[in-house]
Amino acid sequence: MTGVPELIPLESQKEWLDKLFDENPYMNNVYPGESRKILDVFFIRNGEIEYFNLGVHPIFRESYGVGKGITKRKGYMISERCSLCGICEKSCPQRAISFKDKYYIRNENCLHCGLCYENCPVTAIERIED
Ligand code: SF4
Ligand code: SF4
Repeated sequence: MTGVPELIPLESQKEWLDKLFDENPYMNNVYPGESRKILDVFFIRNGEIEYFNLGVHPIFRESYGVGKGITKRKGYMISERCSLCGICEKSCPQRAISFKDKYYIRNENCLHCGLCYENCPVTAIERIED
């Protein structure tokens, strides 16, 4: 999650800290006893969450805006320069490149590894940079 953090007011810190530990009991192993007091509780009003699951094949990723936060486009796209050779489809470790009339990248399954970009013989693959 990315965004600008805002501290919870001092008078509410303990209440929120206890609530977070109650709902996430494993935190007691990380910060046993009173050591949790070193932590500050904050919240993010506007930001972006990037969900990334490496435990499935192909991998799955998705971005969400929180509040007024907007998601930034990232990854790679195949431009009109594509000569339809199919090299990128074969080199993609996640098989995230499909063909229907033309080659395209399924960004929800893309690792952003750049192998397709490196292997394209006509530099038809472009980085998406917002
Ligand atoms: S490697 Fe390049 S030219 Fe070949 S199919 Fe992929 S994008 Fe198109
Ligand atoms: S960046 Fe990597 S994972 Fe994404 S389409 Fe290209 S080769 Fe596949």
